[in-house]
Amino acid sequence: MPERRAESIHDFARKLQQPSLWPYVVDYVAWQRARRIAKEQGLEEPALPALAPLSINLDLTTACNFACDHCIDWDILNSKVRHDDEALRASLRTMTERGLKSVILIGGGEPSLYPGFPAMVEFLKELGLQVAVVSNGSRGDRLLQIAPFLRPGDWIRLSLDSGSNDVFERMHHPASKSCTLDEICSWVAKIKAVNATFQFGFSFVITWRGSARGNVKVIENIQEIELAAARARASGFDYISYKPFLERTGEGSEVLDPAKTEVELPFVLARIRAAIDAARTLETPGFRVLESTNLRVLMAGNWRDFTRQPRTCHMQMLRQVITPLGTFNCPAHRGVDKARLGEGALWALGEQGVVGTRALLDGFDASVQCREVTCLYNGTNWWLEQLVLSSAPLPADAPAAETADWFL
Ligand code: SF4
Ligand code: SF4
Repeated sequence: MPERRAESIHDFARKLQQPSLWPYVVDYVAWQRARRIAKEQGLEEPALPALAPLSINLDLTTACNFACDHCIDWDILNSKVRHDDEALRASLRTMTERGLKSVILIGGGEPSLYPGFPAMVEFLKELGLQVAVVSNGSRGDRLLQIAPFLRPGDWIRLSLDSGSNDVFERMHHPASKSCTLDEICSWVAKIKAVNATFQFGFSFVITWRGSARGNVKVIENIQEIELAAARARASGFDYISYKPFLERTGEGSEVLDPAKTEVELPFVLARIRAAIDAARTLETPGFRVLESTNLRVLMAGNWRDFTRQPRTCHMQMLRQVITPLGTFNCPAHRGVDKARLGEGALWALGEQGVVGTRALLDGFDASVQCREVTCLYNGTNWWLEQLVLSSAPLPADAPAAETADWFL
């Protein structure tokens, strides 16, 4: 396998070797080994252990008050389908009893628009879960309300993608004209005054001329990379994180397709490199400039290495996506029928979750369905596959030190 570098938040194999997560891996690998042996010998398959995913992406709503040209979830936005709050809570309780450790509140949709958003964050923290929020920042008042519940290890990240009010408005088309980049960033200091113990990030999806969502052209923002870093630092964010624009294929998968650019790719990459290098000069002990793993592999030219997946995607068991439209096996296939395990509150009855998960572990051939996806979990899936194929006993003691980062 090619050598793979991952930033620490994307080094999922290492995270899984922490003492808090390792026993789960041992149980899962033992089950996969046993069922493959049973299949070879024509014996009855062993039952799946009483597990649920370790980590979930939870889309609280499909509603959004922005209309971003680059929105990867455009086809499922504002679908008016809602969670039943009680059923969702029951599902989360069951999942926690079965091993759930972390929840990322994210979209298709803007999580802070969920009517019970602060109460849901409080509930998740009462369950003892790590909580992260990815938001468009339009409801700073709601983010302020959840700040008291967050703890070290939790985080909020705002998807802002610009350094000026003008480019912000032209990229995101907020429903309210008063929702400017200045206004959104002004909330950071207010929120940190309440609680500064969690990480607060500024996310920047890099777009270039030729990027498109279907027939909608996406404007370029490379020229704002450095300006955004300066703004993020001045506003009090702990970091800015850059990642490349993804597109959805006709089949619904999120893919990196730099070949679509209208101009020469090396020229675009050189401009991105120079802009991020300039942004890096703004780093301080309290402000970091991060490049996503996707961006690193795009720059390094080896992004296609991450598109060759094993047949079985083991991450389907360890990390799932729960939305009002159903439960899905992966963020890269959010809202796609062939990746749907069942309804949104699938895990309220633990066995239904197990049945849905086992069906996709067998029926979803990742080597085919994900052959165009630059999969962040590629190295982790191959590592888990090798553990399953090996007959060597797994050590009871966790191989890695605890970092208490349980997001997958
Ligand atoms: S804020 Fe997020 S969910 Fe809403 S339109 Fe923009 S990218 Fe899509
Ligand atoms: S192989 Fe990667 S992209 Fe495909 S379902 Fe698994 S984690 Fe998602």
